[in-house]
Amino acid sequence: MPTNRPVTLTRRVMFSSGHRYWMSDLSREENRALFGPWASPYNHGHNYVLDVTVSGSIDPATGMVVNIKTIDDIVRENVVSMLDQRSLNDEVNFFQFHPSTVENILKFVKHELGLPHVLPKGTILVGLRLEETPQLYGELVSQEGTWKTSITRVYEFAAAHRLHSNALSEKENVDLFGKCNNVAGHGHNFVLEVTVEGVPDERTGMIANIQEIDDQVNQLVVERLDHKNLNVDIPEFGDRVVTSEVLVNEIFNSLEGKLPAKLSRVRLFETARSYFEVTAA
Ligand SMILES: [Zn+2]
Ligand SMILES: [Zn+2]
Repeated sequence: MPTNRPVTLTRRVMFSSGHRYWMSDLSREENRALFGPWASPYNHGHNYVLDVTVSGSIDPATGMVVNIKTIDDIVRENVVSMLDQRSLNDEVNFFQFHPSTVENILKFVKHELGLPHVLPKGTILVGLRLEETPQLYGELVSQEGTWKTSITRVYEFAAAHRLHSNALSEKENVDLFGKCNNVAGHGHNFVLEVTVEGVPDERTGMIANIQEIDDQVNQLVVERLDHKNLNVDIPEFGDRVVTSEVLVNEIFNSLEGKLPAKLSRVRLFETARSYFEVTAA
């Protein structure tokens, strides 16, 4: 008898909505203090990308946890139809009382999909991911029964390096690192994802002020590494082989404790096909 472990499946849907970060009972200065440069009494819009992950056991009769078309229909009926082509602040009751942040939209989606009899019997919601822009996405994930909210900012920097170990001979270096051992080095357009987790503030709907995260990451990481030769320009690396593993670990260390919320993950894409990741214990 094969073990019938739970299987998760994820469906992606898209919707377009207008929203604004503005509280009409606050002054312009107070709104700026809460929402930074995004504070405005006027709407702007996003093409949101929502991934819904459910878990369940495989039905031996169909070979499926649930028909993915069923999940798609449910998400469209219960979420997309309420948000798509709407002004969130004006047309969706929930956002008249909660700022329409990524964190709060995730909370809204979780609530709607968690209502009784919405998801098919035997399936449970275990994760949501909402991309607001290519530079910002949020996740609401169930981990051992508790839900964790996180937001991720995406940055880029270009840097050169040479993979070379002083502990190895010339031949061993060439054999191990191949083209990456090129004496004059080579470069990457690194894509850096920085994730913080926490409980969204009741008033702002945010885990942390995004401007503060950006300021710290730009100052502590991006400006230090961008357009640099990592082997030559960054003294912290010393004699170490500056692989992406070493680099992502160093970036995690330099950000830990320096952000306005708990650093939970740093992910570094060396190319579109490889990424390296450190998560908080
Ligand atoms: Zn927005
Ligand atoms: Zn490389």
